[in-house]
Amino acid sequence: METVAPIQISEAEREIMRVVWANLSVTSREIIDILEDKMDWKESTIKTLIGRLVDKNILNTKKEGRKFIYSANVSEETTIQGYADDILSNVCNTHHGSVIGQFIEDAKLSTSDIEELIKLLEEKSLAAPEAVSCECVPGQCECHLVNE
Ligand SMILES: [Zn+2]
Repeated sequence: METVAPIQISEAEREIMRVVWANLSVTSREIIDILEDKMDWKESTIKTLIGRLVDKNILNTKKEGRKFIYSANVSEETTIQGYADDILSNVCNTHHGSVIGQFIEDAKLSTSDIEELIKLLEEKSLAAPEAVSCECVPGQCECHLVNE
C-alpha cells in the first residue's frame, strides 16, 4: 500500500482552506473579506496563514495581473482523512471504538448518513477480530497492566 505523508493543517489554516474549497479559486482579498469579521483576524494574520499554506504546498498560487489567485492542491476529503488518522493514532487501538462512539454521539447525522454508517459497520464486522490488539509503546496506555 502506498503511504502518503499525513497532511497537517492547523485549525486556523483550516479556516482559510474552507474558503478556498468553497470557492475553487480566490484572491487574498476575498479570503480576507470572508474571514476578517468571522475570526476577528487582522489582514496580516490572514496573509501569514496563506503564506504558510503555500509553503506547505497545500495552496497553489498563480499570478494574474497584479493579483495572486489561490487554489487548493489538496482536497477537503484528504485533510479529513489526515485529521481522523491523527486522532486515532494518538489513542490506543483498544479505545478506537469508544472514540468513534463519542463522535457518533456528538455528530449531526441525517438518516442517510446513518444508513451509510450502518452499511460500513456491517462490512467491517465481516472481517473484524474478536479483540483488537494494543500497539502502544509500553507505558503509554494501561493495556500492560491488564496483561501482567
Ligand atoms: Zn494500548
